[in-house]
Amino acid sequence: MPDKIFPMASMNTWRTEAVASFFEGAGLRLHRCLAPGMVCKGTAIRSHSVQNSRVLDLLARDGHVKGVGKRIEGDAGPVIRFEDIGRNQATTFTGFCSKHDSEIFRSIETEPFRPSDPEHLFLVAYRAVARELHACMEATVQIQGSYEARIRRGLDGGNEPEPMGMFAVEYMIKSWLTYRYKCCFDEALLLRKYDKVSHDVFYLTHASPSLAVCSLYAADDVRGNDDWVRVALNVLPLTQTESVVVFTYLPQDAALAKASLAGVLNSPSFSQKYLLSKQILNHCDNFVVAPEHFDTWSPEKVDTIVDFFSETLFKGNLSAEDERLYLF
Ligand SMILES: [Zn+2]
Repeated sequence: MPDKIFPMASMNTWRTEAVASFFEGAGLRLHRCLAPGMVCKGTAIRSHSVQNSRVLDLLARDGHVKGVGKRIEGDAGPVIRFEDIGRNQATTFTGFCSKHDSEIFRSIETEPFRPSDPEHLFLVAYRAVARELHACMEATVQIQGSYEARIRRGLDGGNEPEPMGMFAVEYMIKSWLTYRYKCCFDEALLLRKYDKVSHDVFYLTHASPSLAVCSLYAADDVRGNDDWVRVALNVLPLTQTESVVVFTYLPQDAALAKASLAGVLNSPSFSQKYLLSKQILNHCDNFVVAPEHFDTWSPEKVDTIVDFFSETLFKGNLSAEDERLYLF
């Protein structure tokens, strides 16, 4: 999800030649491998950002989970709604070649997730970071392509500031900032210094697993010195009755992020789940819901959730309160 569009003012903060170099060397090519250094020539495969064999296993019914689909449908325009997604497609992205995908994520793909293991905690966050970089780059390519098509059709001139061109530049900057953020994780991964990032970990209990999340986003209205304060969020069902929630931060973001998330981190169970629901709906698009849990939601509740989620796409972070936004 485009959580927040980075402002044009950011362009003045960064050397434009560095941004240009990123896109010439690595950026505007999809299906490239995002392994550290981004020099791998392998073609990225479609792989899960949420573990398929155990986590999605706890959510899926008849091989499907529920996810939010976004598409343009003829005269209806943008349509956003929950729909069935095959578990083999759910939460996937083309971020790493086969070799790097299996090398980097082997421990969390072949073993049950261990919330006490620094490597496991790091890797689920790393996957959220890589998935967000991929989403930013993909959006940049699509927007830039649309702008170039408008120029070819004579709708835009291409030689002066135009809305679609400005939009493309904003996304290029967002991709660059996300790439720069990922480089911090790359360094920690290469050195196997998993304690270079910190986490808040807590558990949710439930009658049955409700959802899974793997996402990187900007904390509510919080800026550091030269970038938004970012948070990686993973919500992973461990058993039928327990899920783990992992928030991950870079050292320079931790204090501000924790302050922003104080309500989620410190509230009692019901409030915590409600505030976590709002974090997910405000900031994350990479989440899936268990169909059995989804079937317990009334049509009004589904409409409320979809409307809230849709509005965040166009208006950013929303503060409206409604108990029907409770996802658990
Ligand atoms: Zn690779």
